[in-house]
Amino acid sequence: MIQTFPLLGGVELGGTKCVGLIGTGPSDIRAQATVETGGDPARTLERIGAFFQSWRVEHGPIAALGIASFGPVDLDRCSPTYGYITSTTKPGWSDTDIASPLGRITGASRIGFETDVNAAALAEGRWGAAQGLADFAYVTVGTGVGVGLIAGGRPVIGFSHGELGHIRPVRKAGDDWAGSCPFHGDCLEGLASGSAIEARLGLRAGTVSSDHPVWDLVAHPLAQLLHTLVLATAPRLILLGGGVMNAQPHLFPRIRLELQRSLNGYRVAPELGLAIAEYIRPPGLGALAGPLGALAVAADALAAP
Ligand code: ZN
Repeated sequence: MIQTFPLLGGVELGGTKCVGLIGTGPSDIRAQATVETGGDPARTLERIGAFFQSWRVEHGPIAALGIASFGPVDLDRCSPTYGYITSTTKPGWSDTDIASPLGRITGASRIGFETDVNAAALAEGRWGAAQGLADFAYVTVGTGVGVGLIAGGRPVIGFSHGELGHIRPVRKAGDDWAGSCPFHGDCLEGLASGSAIEARLGLRAGTVSSDHPVWDLVAHPLAQLLHTLVLATAPRLILLGGGVMNAQPHLFPRIRLELQRSLNGYRVAPELGLAIAEYIRPPGLGALAGPLGALAVAADALAAP
């Protein structure tokens, strides 16, 4: 007998573009469309909604909708602004309800709402490199630094989602550059993100040669994040993705070594010793992690009691 899965819808809302799609998983994406994230949220959401309306005619209704949004967002289901983008620096998008208009437009009765990085982490757990694991971390190093920390199969959430990209790493001796984060200066994102590297060197991170001394100053704070993750929730796997990691794969061995130096033997586990190359590795879904993240959120929304 052929097993049939319910049709899911997803919207990945990014700072520059939004991807809408329907399907049941990576091997079955029935339709996909991209629109620019304009300065007018209502117009952008309407344009996405129009695709869903035409897909509904062709493919039938979706059983659930998953939204994976840039942040910050309100994930507190008890909050009156649940499903909103809150105080974003993107013009026009602060305090904007995302979940209810998209639910209305797409006709989905079940809706899941997550940060983009949490959603990508959930997709890695469902279909990618972290399949079968309930405790792992997905770190993306791109324009910013984001962390999807999964514990017990769910993203770690309190009054809001985590913002581990803004922890304050111990600085590498001799480096006193002020950092680029508008809030904290030399937080992790202010030192190691693609925008930080560009602010420091005047060069795009992807074009900087692999032997440039800046990479020691990037690997060091990223290893500090991993040090914190290992001590906080002892994840069984740490995936490192995003544009900077993809363009500069030499960062993997540097970060692994820096992490071992930083922990200094305090935690002893195969993951932190001989097996560290398996423990800290790239994600499995590549560029599809974003849109598939939205579908994973939809699948979770459908499975929720
Ligand atoms: Zn910061």
